[in-house]
Amino acid sequence: MRLRALCPATSRAWTVELRSHAGGLAFVCRQCLGGGPVAAPSARAAALTHLARHARSDVLAPHLRTCQCHERGCRWHRRHRGCSGPVRLLLACERGGRVWRLADACTACAAATAHAAVVPDTALLIPPPATSRRQRRRNEPDGRTRVREMFSYLAAALPAGASPATRLIALQCALRMNASMRVSLSLGLLRSLRLGGNPSPWQELEQARWLCLTPGRETGEVAAVLLDDALLGQAPTRPDRCHAADWAVRAGCPSRAGVLGPLLQVVSVYLTSHSHPETGQGLNEADRTARECGIQPAELPHVLEQLAALGLLDSWRIAADTEDLGWAMRSPQ
Ligand SMILES: [Zn+2]
Ligand SMILES: [Zn+2]
Ligand SMILES: [Zn+2]
Repeated sequence: MRLRALCPATSRAWTVELRSHAGGLAFVCRQCLGGGPVAAPSARAAALTHLARHARSDVLAPHLRTCQCHERGCRWHRRHRGCSGPVRLLLACERGGRVWRLADACTACAAATAHAAVVPDTALLIPPPATSRRQRRRNEPDGRTRVREMFSYLAAALPAGASPATRLIALQCALRMNASMRVSLSLGLLRSLRLGGNPSPWQELEQARWLCLTPGRETGEVAAVLLDDALLGQAPTRPDRCHAADWAVRAGCPSRAGVLGPLLQVVSVYLTSHSHPETGQGLNEADRTARECGIQPAELPHVLEQLAALGLLDSWRIAADTEDLGWAMRSPQ
């Protein structure tokens, strides 16, 4: 178990609560008591934006950051397995979306927390330690890891009912956005995902206040500005993220996208990103798999059957005791 830091650490944990009142919804920050009335469709976005601002203004050197979950007696998750792993920013949602918390947490506590996601690559939120460019590049996550982290993050940041097509578009936008949070997806890319000419995912993302469509510079693209402040954290490493976005397109088997449809594409990219690169085997909690793919746990076996029938999955099994899902992809990526 990691020992507590000897010097008192700045508390890097912030909580925002959404409350109903006569006129509608209001959000209140438990730390600064800021907040105010919000419209229901943009409540989630307003809460996350507020939390991200705290995280950016209360900066602490990486070596001074401690697991805030541990500092509070690990009351945010059921079992305490002991803290371990690097400390990252964890976004958690409680009481069905009424309470949102952003806090530094270690890898073990993050994994044990329900309805939570690690905020990907916090390089802008927390200044990186002074390392050489080459060293930093070696420590950067690869495409598979970035896609895995983004799935986890989007599961918390998008509305629970977001459609599979919406998740595929959000994944591509989040990975391809530039430093000013603008993104454009070419119609060729959208066609290869079989999502060209379908406005409804974009409308869903606009309604969730996750992005706002902007006029494209060219006719062959859809352009947008992302409104999700927490994503700003990953701005400085764009070439890596574009590489990860391309990896996600390949993992979704574009040649068979028409047969698969958006749901099977999402699950296929998800399983591939959680598989061992060489063996194609993977193990993950079944519940988490379903939630991060945007489906109900009861739907998961049927979806896996379909992937197996199409030859993308060799085998899969949900263990009765641990409810872990184990699988083997047909062709390791
Ligand atoms: Zn606040
Ligand atoms: Zn904990
Ligand atoms: Zn911990």
